[in-house]
Amino acid sequence: MRLRLIYPKFRKFLEGHEALRQVVKDHLVGDYTMPPSLALPIIAALTPPEIEVNLTDDNVGQRIDYDEEIDLVVISCFTPQAQRAYEIADEFALRGTPTILGGIHPTGMPAEAAQHADAVCVGEVEPVWHEILDDLRRGTLKRFYHATEPLPMAQMPVPRRDIFSRDLYKWDAHLVITTRGCPVRCEGCPIPNKEGTLIRLRPVECIIEDIKSMPYREFYFTDDTVMIPGKKSMKFILGIMERTAELDVSIFLPSTMMMARDPSFYDKLRKGGATSMYTVFGYDSVSRHLFSHDCTRAQWQECIDLVRMIEDAGIHFFASYGVGFDDQDPSIFDKILKFSDEAGIDLAEFFIHTPFPGTPFGDIASRQNRILHRNYHLWNTGNVVFRPKNFTPEKLLEGFFYLWKGFYKDKAPKQTLRSFEINESQGGSDQAA
Ligand code: SF4
Repeated sequence: MRLRLIYPKFRKFLEGHEALRQVVKDHLVGDYTMPPSLALPIIAALTPPEIEVNLTDDNVGQRIDYDEEIDLVVISCFTPQAQRAYEIADEFALRGTPTILGGIHPTGMPAEAAQHADAVCVGEVEPVWHEILDDLRRGTLKRFYHATEPLPMAQMPVPRRDIFSRDLYKWDAHLVITTRGCPVRCEGCPIPNKEGTLIRLRPVECIIEDIKSMPYREFYFTDDTVMIPGKKSMKFILGIMERTAELDVSIFLPSTMMMARDPSFYDKLRKGGATSMYTVFGYDSVSRHLFSHDCTRAQWQECIDLVRMIEDAGIHFFASYGVGFDDQDPSIFDKILKFSDEAGIDLAEFFIHTPFPGTPFGDIASRQNRILHRNYHLWNTGNVVFRPKNFTPEKLLEGFFYLWKGFYKDKAPKQTLRSFEINESQGGSDQAA
C-alpha cells in the first residue's frame, strides 16, 4: 500500500498586510516559518514499514500530483489551512482516490470536513490509526473515526521527521511534544476539545530520546501546559530540564502569564537550556485580568516583576499579545504598549482573536451570529473574521497595526528566530508561519 501525506499551504499572518510587513521585517517576527506540525511525522512513525509513506509540503511549493496512484491521501490541517485542505481533497475525490482529513480543524468541524473527504478523524489520530489502515485494506473506511480512549503518552512514537526533505528548509530546530490535553479551557483555545481536559505527561525518558534523535541544538516545546503552575507540572518540567542540562541544547518554552513566581524555578530552567519564554497574553485569566479595568497597580507590578524575573534568569521573554476579546475595548492597545515598555519587553508579536472551531469562543461567536465569513485562509489571526463586542472590525484591525508599529518603532533590528526560515532559494518566499 502507498500513502500520500499532505501538509496544506496557509498564509502567514502578516501576508496581505504588505506595509506592516515592511515595518517589522528586520525584527524577524510575524514573518518567520515554524517547522510543520508533528501530526504527519507521527502518523508516518505509526505506519508499518511495509506501507510506503511520502509527504508533500504544499508550503514549500512541492507539487501535488493528483494523478498519483495511491491508496490513501492523508491531510492534517488547522483552521488557516482548511480551505486549501478541502480544495486538495476535492481534487483527489474527482479522481476517485480515497482521502482522510484530520487535525484541529476537522475535529472542530467534522460535518463540514466530511463533505470533502471519505473519512474524518476527530480528535487524536494515534489510537485509531491502525483501525484506519485495517479498514483501508478491507475497503471499508468509515465516515468518522473518534478515539474512545486517549493515547497513553508512553506509546507516542518518536515522530518520523525524516519525511520532510531537509534540503527544502533551513531548519536548525524542531518541535518536541511534552504533554497532551489541558484542564484550563481558555475560551479561544482548541486544545481541550482535541486532546481532552486531562493533562497527560509524556515520560521524560521519551522526550529525551526524541531530542537526542534529532541533529539539532534548538528545540521548541509545543505545549504551554508544561508551564502551568502547580507541584505536578513544575516537577515535570524540572525533571525534563535536569536531563537537558546534560545536553548542549537551547529550548524555547511556550507559556502563559499563569506561570510560577519563583526566581529559583527560572534559574533551574535556564540551567536546563531554556533560552526563550514565548508567552501568550489574552487567553488565560491572569493576562485577561492584567489588561482589565479591575487590575490594581500591585497586580500590574507583579506581572512586570514576573517578566523581569524570567529575563534576570537569562531567559528571553517573547510576548504574544491577543486583541479583540469581548472584555477588551480600544484602551487595550495603549495598555499593551505601556506594559511592554514598563516591563522592558523587547520582542513581541500581536494577534487578533479568532473564533476557531472547537473552542468555547468559536461556539459563542457562531451562536451569536458574529462570524463575518468562513474564508478560512483569512482565519490566521491577522484579520478580523468576527464582529467584536467593543470595537468595530475596522478599529480592531487598525489597533492591530498600531501595536506592531508602535512596539517596533524604536527597537533595533534583532537576529532572532532565524532557525525556522524556509530556504527561499528553493522554496519561495510566501511560506507558512
Ligand atoms: S491556551 Fe494553554 S492553558 Fe489555555 S486551554 Fe489552551 S493549552 Fe490550556
